[in-house]
Amino acid sequence: MIYGLIEVKPKMNKKKVIFAIFIAVVIIAAIGFGIFYHKNPNMFLSQENTVQEENTVLSKPIKNEKQKHIAKVNFLPVYSEEAQNRLDNIYNSEEKSVYLTFDDGPSKTVTPLILDLLKQENIKATFFVLGARVDLNPSILRREYEEGHFIANHGYSHIYSNIYSSTGSVLEEYNKAQQAIQNALGLEYNGHLFRFPGGSTGGKYHNLKKDTKTVLRENQIGYIDWNALSSDAAGAKTKEALLESVKSTVGEKNTVVILMHDAGDKILTYEVLPEVIAYLREKGYIFKNFYDIMK
Ligand SMILES: [Zn+2]
Repeated sequence: MIYGLIEVKPKMNKKKVIFAIFIAVVIIAAIGFGIFYHKNPNMFLSQENTVQEENTVLSKPIKNEKQKHIAKVNFLPVYSEEAQNRLDNIYNSEEKSVYLTFDDGPSKTVTPLILDLLKQENIKATFFVLGARVDLNPSILRREYEEGHFIANHGYSHIYSNIYSSTGSVLEEYNKAQQAIQNALGLEYNGHLFRFPGGSTGGKYHNLKKDTKTVLRENQIGYIDWNALSSDAAGAKTKEALLESVKSTVGEKNTVVILMHDAGDKILTYEVLPEVIAYLREKGYIFKNFYDIMK
């Protein structure tokens, strides 16, 4: 009997000890997992889910009592090292591609006509909009976005002495235009792409523009000029002159970023656009917009 008890007791104790260790391990593992998960909530999401999660946050409608119109959610630009890299090397591509870009809009008179034509031609373009004009024509901006065009930032006022008074004032202009775009779309949209009014180099403000490029980069904002133009804001007064300017500046370049304007007085830009498009198609260019960069 005694012998039996002695035999049984250690057996029971051994089982209890193993069970107790098992429970302790489970508890420690659970606590450890809890702490780790709390610090890394996305750790079990695939890369794709994580991106979707971020996009969901980005595309969340702005909570604003006054916001009546919310754009149908289309694509949203994404800024990353790779995007910045693609932008820095945009002219090094082997592929023949063309980016149609329109500055200084949206306008009531010209922009809707250009949008109709782009829709008919099935081309997605890029609009470098002015914040002040977005405030005047928010529904036209929504249409640009909903039809798949890229909305980029051209500052708010287009008044050089305001914009270029300091690097901070350039950033203020960007943010003010950004706010106008967000108000018009009802979405937390950021194109992360700026075009310096008057171009990013040269002129009276050259040094300030140079310093501003660093500030823009620190704020995850890329910039782009152009390497071809219709001269619609610089003297060309006839359709023939506009088309000739496009042809001579496009030349034999592989990647072409064409500067045009959709301000209210640029009706000629619209009128010559079918011929510009036909010419580029004939030369074998593929039409792109900056969603091909900011993705
Ligand atoms: Zn401009």
